Amino acid sequence: MQIKNVMLLKSKSEVRELVSVLKKDNKIIGFVPTMGALHEGHESLIKRAITECDNVIVSIFVNPTQFGPNEDFDAYPKQLEQDIEICQKLGVSAIFAPVAEEMYSNTECLTSVIPPESLKNKMCGKSRKGHFDGVATVVLKLFNIVQPDNAYFGMKDAQQLFIIKKMVRDLDIPVNIIGCPIVRESSGLAMSSRNSYLSVEAKDKAVKISKVLESVRNEYLSGKILDVNQVMSIAKAILDAEISIEYLEMYNYQTLMPVNTVGAETLIAIAVKIDGIRLIDNLLI
Ligand code: AMP
Repeated sequence: MQIKNVMLLKSKSEVRELVSVLKKDNKIIGFVPTMGALHEGHESLIKRAITECDNVIVSIFVNPTQFGPNEDFDAYPKQLEQDIEICQKLGVSAIFAPVAEEMYSNTECLTSVIPPESLKNKMCGKSRKGHFDGVATVVLKLFNIVQPDNAYFGMKDAQQLFIIKKMVRDLDIPVNIIGCPIVRESSGLAMSSRNSYLSVEAKDKAVKISKVLESVRNEYLSGKILDVNQVMSIAKAILDAEISIEYLEMYNYQTLMPVNTVGAETLIAIAVKIDGIRLIDNLLI
């Protein structure tokens, strides 16, 4: 089998040109939006897209409008050469890796997608003001450029996935949104590009985040009725004292409305800071 070279596209017009050729050929286009520094979590999305679509386009764009002023936009890991190799190995047709100026002529004066406040005033949206406006806007722009049949998102960012699905329904965007399970390291730590910021000691501590979620699941499966305070007690007992919990919240996965006790379809979501590095994880019961 001959593997064709992955195309590296920097401009919207190059993507549009490719997409128009693929559409003429009735190809099913799969799309995986990422911020790069690809790991096995991203790879799982790409592999799924490859099995379900004729051609897969991966975007690599660290989107400035979804970062707050005190967040890690400048430090965000970049490894384009390695990302190209991964995409090539997996059989991706094209990578869209624009610079910010290609995506935005002016971020100060920008028409934006504003997801409903009731979906943003919880979990990551509480501390990351404007984050989901930036995410929804860039994802809609990418959908308009790539015009995919299917787009693949990770459950790792559960609130993001929920908001994107809602945007697609509300704005009648012709794309299927496919949610993919969280990929973890053998230790249980959810894979994340931000894990590269962690020292060895911090990583040892970070492993305990998934232990909290596993422990809640085990207690639930053993028949205990757990409210949010009990879930918090489990977390505090497992996590090191130096880990600060930003949130530990429980929602109905279908509605993203809060639930009082752990039950079927409960999403338990956690964000912590370890040595100043923010990590998120979640578990769907
Ligand atoms: P990012 O590059 O962090 O913006 O992520 C791009 C996509 O990959 C998003 O849809 C994420 O939810 C997904 N993703 C990131 N980490 C994981 C993971 N550990 N497992 C599954 N999907 C992931």
